[in-house]
Amino acid sequence: MALKKLTIVGGGLAGLALGIALCRRSIPVQLLEASAYPRHRVCGEFLSGIHSEELVGLGIEDLFVDAARSRETIWFDGPRAILRATLPEAAYGLSRFQLDSALAQRFIALGGQLRTGVRAGDDPAEGTVHASGRPQRDSPWIGLKAHFGEFPLSADLEIHLADGGYVGVTRVEEGRVNVSGLFRRKTPLNGGPRMFTQAVAEAGLGQLAERLESAQMDRASLKGVSRFHLGWQIQRGAAVCIGDAAALIPPFTGNGMTMALQSALLAVEPLAQWSQGECGWESVGRAIRKAQSGMFSTRLRWAHAMQKVLFQPLGRRICAALIARQWISFETFYRKLR
Ligand SMILES: Cc1cc2nc3c(=O)[nH]c(=O)nc-3n(C[C@H](O)[C@H](O)[C@H](O)COP(=O)(O)OP(=O)(O)OC[C@H]3O[C@@H](n4cnc5c(N)ncnc54)[C@H](O)[C@@H]3O)c2cc1C
Repeated sequence: MALKKLTIVGGGLAGLALGIALCRRSIPVQLLEASAYPRHRVCGEFLSGIHSEELVGLGIEDLFVDAARSRETIWFDGPRAILRATLPEAAYGLSRFQLDSALAQRFIALGGQLRTGVRAGDDPAEGTVHASGRPQRDSPWIGLKAHFGEFPLSADLEIHLADGGYVGVTRVEEGRVNVSGLFRRKTPLNGGPRMFTQAVAEAGLGQLAERLESAQMDRASLKGVSRFHLGWQIQRGAAVCIGDAAALIPPFTGNGMTMALQSALLAVEPLAQWSQGECGWESVGRAIRKAQSGMFSTRLRWAHAMQKVLFQPLGRRICAALIARQWISFETFYRKLR
């Protein structure tokens, strides 16, 4: 019997990983991507909490072999270091510029049909999977990212907490660091190359802003995003959604890319069954939503609660004190968010 063809809308991590996994099972699949590769994306580029079996299951484990490994982390409240910790497992540092491009090449090499420069509609049609990232919605959040050279790090991952936001700094390839920030803002940024340091300084992170000013920013890597919502996204009828199109975890967790890959993995089996004519499209959607809810609901709740605490001064002080007095371990927090 002929296999039914799937269409994936969106070639970020979720869409490409799903496309690769389906191609490995000989399922015919086309992927529509609005932009082209390589390209920079707003992302902290710090990938944590993924299991090696999950990367093997998707057939992409080899793409992480040369990624930077991060174990040591330091957290700042403004200029003050409030926590030093070792991550229970190493995280990967790899730019989206490189990773998405490598995934796209793998997808094509496996026989996937990739059409770039094509913006698809959000029609919840049978056989179409939406992996198109954060849906646009009014919100106070602004996300920024840029690569910097000559930026000495005081740990593999620096987290700078502020009132209503944070900045993460981590190593990616070629000796560069990726700096990404989430800011709750009432006024828009001025734009231009200095908008990153402006946002950082206005968030109350003056010392970090000075460090960024004296480092070398790769201007082509400077990207910004607004109008997105954290948490579960509004379901569009019976649409089958994966990655950020389904849910975006507060980014300080460094777990959004992992969730994108995990949601791709959860979708493979139901989609393969549909392609083989073993079940209807509605049951595919139900199975995928149920699997995502089971895997992600608890960590999303913890992440929202933790973000609320960490983005205000008293919350930061209490957290730091609890960990310093060993009433609660950093590992406990880490595990709740994964
Ligand atoms: C400020 C910030 C910092 C973050 N830091 C981290 C971090 O350190 N670690 C981490 O794990 N996660 C982080 N994240 C989250 C992470 O970036 C996302 O969870 C991840 O990118 C989700 O992947 P995705 O494939 O679902 O979506 P995306 O990567 O957004 O990909 C969606 C793709 O769909 C395409 N597309 C959109 N609409 C259409 C259309 N209509 N037709 C065709 N194509 C379309 C886009 O061009 C894009 O290529 C961060 C997020 C933010 C905002």
